[in-house]
Amino acid sequence: MTAGGHETASHQPAENGKRVAVIGGGITGLSAAQRLISADPTAEVVIFEASERFGGIIRTEQADGFLMELGPDSFITNKPGGIQLCDDVGFADQLIPTDGEFRRSLVLRNGKPQLVPEGFMLMAPAKPWAIATTPVLSVAGKIRLLREAFVRPKPNPDEDESLADFVRRRFGRQALDRLVQPLVGGIYTSDPEKLSLKATLPRFIEMEQKYGSVIRATLAEQRQKKGRTESDSGSGARYGLFATPRSGLGSLVDRVVALLQESDRVTLRSNLKVSGLSRSPATGGEADPSWQVSLPGVPDEIFDAVILTLPTYKAADLLNDESFADLARALRGIEYASSAVVVTTHRLSDFRHALDAFGLVVPAIENRKVLAVSFTSRKFPGRAPAGHVLLRTFVGGAMQPELLENSDTEITEFVHQELSAMLGMTASPGFSQVVRHQRAMPQYYVGHGAKVAEIERLSAMCRGLHLAGSAYFGVGLPDSIASGRSAADRVQRDT
Ligand SMILES: Cc1cc2nc3c(=O)[nH]c(=O)nc-3n(C[C@H](O)[C@H](O)[C@H](O)COP(=O)(O)OP(=O)(O)OC[C@H]3O[C@@H](n4cnc5c(N)ncnc54)[C@H](O)[C@@H]3O)c2cc1C
Repeated sequence: MTAGGHETASHQPAENGKRVAVIGGGITGLSAAQRLISADPTAEVVIFEASERFGGIIRTEQADGFLMELGPDSFITNKPGGIQLCDDVGFADQLIPTDGEFRRSLVLRNGKPQLVPEGFMLMAPAKPWAIATTPVLSVAGKIRLLREAFVRPKPNPDEDESLADFVRRRFGRQALDRLVQPLVGGIYTSDPEKLSLKATLPRFIEMEQKYGSVIRATLAEQRQKKGRTESDSGSGARYGLFATPRSGLGSLVDRVVALLQESDRVTLRSNLKVSGLSRSPATGGEADPSWQVSLPGVPDEIFDAVILTLPTYKAADLLNDESFADLARALRGIEYASSAVVVTTHRLSDFRHALDAFGLVVPAIENRKVLAVSFTSRKFPGRAPAGHVLLRTFVGGAMQPELLENSDTEITEFVHQELSAMLGMTASPGFSQVVRHQRAMPQYYVGHGAKVAEIERLSAMCRGLHLAGSAYFGVGLPDSIASGRSAADRVQRDT
């Protein structure tokens, strides 16, 4: 194997096995490469990564006893991708679950943090008595939410509906504004009026259709589970189902990269930004799937297949030949939102609030400048020294893009003000870092399924080209990993 950019490689397709280019060295590309070499004993893989490091959005840093995630911090385990990758690279024993002691979340109500009602999972209220007693909703709001059990299902379930329309129709406006928008918005950094329920949380459509109501479905599921040990008790986002490597997600990236480096069939090339992708003129033609990867400053390279893992607008830029115009246009049809994560370290005694939860979500109607605050060192052990706390505050997203026009200093300042106002922070953080994620979160708007189907139809006409990443069938790490693995399997099947 070779690492580092700017070396010349073969210009000919591999004679025995397939020669495959993986474009993008984030978790999708790494997972695709890992799957390719383990599933196909003859495949030869080159990974092209524009930056100096692999992992993409995943970035873990350590300083002064704090372990800081600058991108994602964990992944859900009820989707198989993350666990499968860890199993395949012998990393499953490194995974740790969330800490049971603080497994609850808070939501801001009139400027004050309140507990999300126990058992309330995104929008499934598993414990009706917890809804009846919560200070988060008014009496009218509670009655309307619980009346969901008697609201008739939608007659045309196949029609795409926004999250906001679904929740208003079934649970009422207050449940949307006060609970579902902040809980779901925190995951997708999205506008619930535009977010497609079918593309993001289809489980709730199934619940409505199968049981006539989400509440009745939740209670029925609970009865079925009774007697079994529940790992997902708590409230808010489904924290009990989340896991992360003990030493941070960066250690999983390191593990995959190390295994790829050990293989003599893999070449990892960093600091090399692919500038174009076209059918090979040497061997080209509809029947021939050879692809030419254009690289700045070094000769172009020819491959039998390409796995393209970039955000769709960057993938479209590479497909700049007129013959790909329709596919490029369809790829550009998926919108992205930007956000910033502000990582801060503190002494616990510098807060009036006990921070005895996994985090705080902030409803848009509270008109604050932050989307959510994750109390990261309360979620997972080993993230902060004793007596200290590590916070990650989320800013921007599809609903407040203008906040990212501020400088890092301005963002840091208003985040500190918000932490003081909402959580009683009494002293400045020991350390603050703003990490911007520019156009990093794909927005699954109403009609997303149809857009993806069109992209699939058009890309199927480009034999040997396989798209993967968080833009298509799920935004999280397990979905991205699964999409990379599935692209690798398609390459192998494609003869
Ligand atoms: C702020 C934030 C927080 C998140 N938190 C979570 C979480 O807690 N849990 C969870 O499950 N998911 C989370 N996600 C989603 C998760 O991060 C993504 O699903 C995943 O990281 C996507 O990986 P990827 O490899 O597809 O893309 P990326 O990580 O974006 O990787 C793409 C790579 O391509 C490279 N590249 C770009 N252009 C070129 C080019 N022309 N040539 C070569 N290389 C190129 C880039 O440098 C990059 O390394 C979060 C996302 C964001 C933005």
